[in-house]
Amino acid sequence: MQQRPLHKFSILSVPLSCSVVVVGGGPAGLMAAEVLSAAGVDVHLFDAMPSVGRKFLLAGIGGLNLTHAEPLTLFQTRFRERAADCGRWLKALSPQDVRDWAAGLGIATFVGTSQRVFPTDMKAAPLLRAWLQRLRHPQGGVPVTFHMRHRWDGRCHPQEDAGAPGHRLCFQGPQGEQWVHTRAVLLALGGGSWARLGSDGAWQPWLAARGLGLSPLRPANCGFDVAVGSRPGWSTWLEQQMAGTPLKGVVLSWPNLQGDTITRKGECVLTRHGLEGSLVYAASADLREVIARDGQVTVHLDLRPDWTLDRVLALLQRPRGGRSLAKVLRGGVGLAPVHVALLHEVLSREELAQPGRLATAIKALPLTLVRPRPLDEAISSAGGVRLEALDDGLMVREWPGVFCAGEMLDWEAPTGGYLLTACLASGRVAGEGVLRYLSA
Ligand SMILES: Cc1cc2nc3c(=O)[nH]c(=O)nc-3n(C[C@H](O)[C@H](O)[C@H](O)COP(=O)(O)OP(=O)(O)OC[C@H]3O[C@@H](n4cnc5c(N)ncnc54)[C@H](O)[C@@H]3O)c2cc1C
Repeated sequence: MQQRPLHKFSILSVPLSCSVVVVGGGPAGLMAAEVLSAAGVDVHLFDAMPSVGRKFLLAGIGGLNLTHAEPLTLFQTRFRERAADCGRWLKALSPQDVRDWAAGLGIATFVGTSQRVFPTDMKAAPLLRAWLQRLRHPQGGVPVTFHMRHRWDGRCHPQEDAGAPGHRLCFQGPQGEQWVHTRAVLLALGGGSWARLGSDGAWQPWLAARGLGLSPLRPANCGFDVAVGSRPGWSTWLEQQMAGTPLKGVVLSWPNLQGDTITRKGECVLTRHGLEGSLVYAASADLREVIARDGQVTVHLDLRPDWTLDRVLALLQRPRGGRSLAKVLRGGVGLAPVHVALLHEVLSREELAQPGRLATAIKALPLTLVRPRPLDEAISSAGGVRLEALDDGLMVREWPGVFCAGEMLDWEAPTGGYLLTACLASGRVAGEGVLRYLSA
């Protein structure tokens, strides 16, 4: 069966003039465009890629985690030092509003065991398809016009039109340079991870040159490189035998910048370079900050969280009756082969032979993490346009008529649906900010 295209294709052959230009067709830009279109505003959305929402579609591959069902007050704390700002956006579009909005597109959602909210089919494509259909053919308002393969090159000059202030933006499109005149500009350019999907962070020097306060983009929800003793990385044996193996049901303890120890149970994955996975992502902001300050961070893994240290020790002290240590650890203590391999990786032969030392390591295996994996591999970015540079409608204070939304703003959150919810909510806030600006 032939797939319907996810976008309306348009190539500009004449200079364009419109009320609002949205640059970036991720969830933030699309939500802003929806607000404007519903209010009857002539909005043109430009994206560098051949189709919109590529990262959103990728998010759907492992199961699209749209939002989270925990109480709003708790939800808000996930945004750390930006809790108050993001909490304000969530008033415009709460997690429940996200579910209602998806339902309005014909996409039912359910709350999973971890309180995470997913579409019933777990996929992103049906939602995006229905969304684009509604943007192109709204019941009321004005259809959004999409311009794919149009990359904004950073140029945006002031230009008056009939006495009203406006902007002239330059795009590089299939037919070369294309200038567009508009009253307001909404930038929703994404962060800096997975650049091949469109959000490459190239906007950073452009906006910095305009004097915008920026915090450098940094990896968030990312994996980390390990060092064992003075050696960077795992041993060749561990890397070859165990890379890609999940460490299930472990408890990770890590320090934050304030010196508190945070402990959480979950699952991570032993990678070629170190560790990644949801448990590590949950710790990643703290780990990244401590590494930036101290050069490295030591985390501890409890490989047998439901056993006390005494119980582990008692078992290790029993006579082995000719069984190998590996057999005792697997059959007696109930460790998985990857756990046993990790113990052999970190402990010396002498330490493995001491029941007390071994039991302590099983309950709190120290691992040294030395750097986050590169930004491009991360799920999301920390850093971006500082919120202090923006007003309540997400307009750049020093650049009237230019708004920003989504992951390009300076906030971060763990995985769990918080990222998409904040992108959608900030898109709505910025869209409403543009409406107020146009009617002022
Ligand atoms: C593997 C993976 C899984 C994820 N899973 C989830 C999940 O389950 N739940 C969740 O909440 N979040 C998830 N996320 C994060 C989420 O997808 C992003 O936070 C979200 O897509 C960001 O939305 P955005 O609109 O700000 O930017 P983006 O979605 O990155 O969109 C930005 C758009 O701007 C365009 N653009 C950039 N520069 C230019 C330019 N100069 N000119 C024109 N166009 C430009 C890009 O082409 C792109 O289309 C996941 C991310 C990844 C990588």
